[in-house]
Amino acid sequence: MSDRYGEFVQSSLGKKVAKSLGLPLPIKLDRFEAGEKVVRGSVLFGSASGDDSSISDAVANVLNNLHAEVYVSDEDAHKEALSGAGIEAKGSKDHAEKYKVLIFDASNISYAPDLKEMYDFFHPVARQVEKSGRVIVIGRPPEECESIGQTLAQRSLEGFVKSVGKEFKNGITSQLIYVSKGAESNIDSTLRFFISARSAYVSGQVVRVGKGNAQDVDWSKPFAGKTVLVTGASRGIGESMARVFARDGAHVICLDIPPQQADLQKVAGEIGGSTLALDITAKDAGEKIAEAAAKRNGLDAIIHNAGVTRDKTLAKMDDKQWSMVIDINLQSIAAINDYLFENNALNENARIVCVSSISGIAGNLGQTNYATSKAGVIGLVQATAKKLKEEDKGITINAVAPGFIETQMTAAIPVAIREAGRRMNSMSQGGLPVDVAETAAWLATPASGGVNGNIVRVCGQSLLGA
Ligand code: NAD
Repeated sequence: MSDRYGEFVQSSLGKKVAKSLGLPLPIKLDRFEAGEKVVRGSVLFGSASGDDSSISDAVANVLNNLHAEVYVSDEDAHKEALSGAGIEAKGSKDHAEKYKVLIFDASNISYAPDLKEMYDFFHPVARQVEKSGRVIVIGRPPEECESIGQTLAQRSLEGFVKSVGKEFKNGITSQLIYVSKGAESNIDSTLRFFISARSAYVSGQVVRVGKGNAQDVDWSKPFAGKTVLVTGASRGIGESMARVFARDGAHVICLDIPPQQADLQKVAGEIGGSTLALDITAKDAGEKIAEAAAKRNGLDAIIHNAGVTRDKTLAKMDDKQWSMVIDINLQSIAAINDYLFENNALNENARIVCVSSISGIAGNLGQTNYATSKAGVIGLVQATAKKLKEEDKGITINAVAPGFIETQMTAAIPVAIREAGRRMNSMSQGGLPVDVAETAAWLATPASGGVNGNIVRVCGQSLLGA
């Protein structure tokens, strides 16, 4: 589905017209391309003063591994930590141009007035962020803080980050990463995702990184030797997921309903994957999935992407429309997971990624069935994450919650509602299937062992449910 307005404002005439009428000005977002650097520009790094340097050290390590060009806001405070990680950082005074990434470690803030340190870091550079730039604040999970002062200070970070996301525009994203004590080294996969172009349409998110079994990966092929099954892989978001996982080294089992077999085979053929023609609501779906995975050394990740809409206001909705949506979008996932758990059909450190929706967070007119199912997916992820943490087999479960993504599903929305959905977010445009796929790939990487129970919106910071 093409965004004609979005294309028009890329031209100089379009830009002029939009500006003079005060219309949204979506920019062309940077997106990841294989072989490109993770950070395409310079990074400004700073931290609040305090005794605990464990998060700053972990960030410095990641930046060093990425060979990033790093500047520091406070030379005295940061140069030493960075040089410990092998980084020759320069002072921000030497930097006249714009930064691609701003990272602030706020973990030491434990007193409301000290939030001013965050203001002092960002204020002077608020107009110095490149297009498709990245703003990242890192803190400690409020629920794990020891004092009221620290809890309120760490909780405050969320309001700051979400406001920056709404203010900076120009495709700039803003995120908050809460890292548990002792889990600092697990930040790697999450930081890489958020500073890269892979997170083009993810903004205003709060992600928790905890303890867990984060594995070392070859970052050029993080899924090498792994088997990933994607449901609903014949088109739309699922097709894009299959392509991204294959690009990153996985063998992908592409699953879709039998009538989609021709399209499914085309996708699988192009990426060297295999196919599984199956309705996920079938009684033996879990068994069929386990059988297909067993032929490929077991399942390292399952992505529950298949889903349907049957929109009608509640008064006009028949019970078939209700039941079908709940069955496909929610009950089938619960039943398949149950089978895989009970039959040990998931490999150690396997990843489960579900697809929810911002409709499940905000609710939506004409979508009581769909929003119920997608809110249920969130409940399923939260309850399963807790169980998996207790079992300690290294398995994780998370969800992506897409907003307006340009697919056949959204092409079917009436034009006025479609245009509103597209523009009512900080990017003033719809996302692409690849944006959801890249997010699922981050959650599913073997390196994301510390990421469990998160619901990550891929919605350009949509106003709905925010
Ligand atoms: P789509 O309709 O293009 O693709 C969905 C795929 O799922 C199809 O290939 C379909 O055949 C398959 N499928 C449906 N029922 C199935 C079943 N019973 N068994 C196996 N496969 C089945 O949709 P999409 O836009 O790519 O959406 C993918 C997922 O993302 C869905 O879960 C959807 O709810 C969710 N989502 C999409 C958007 C969006 O803007 N497109 C927004 C929020 C959430």
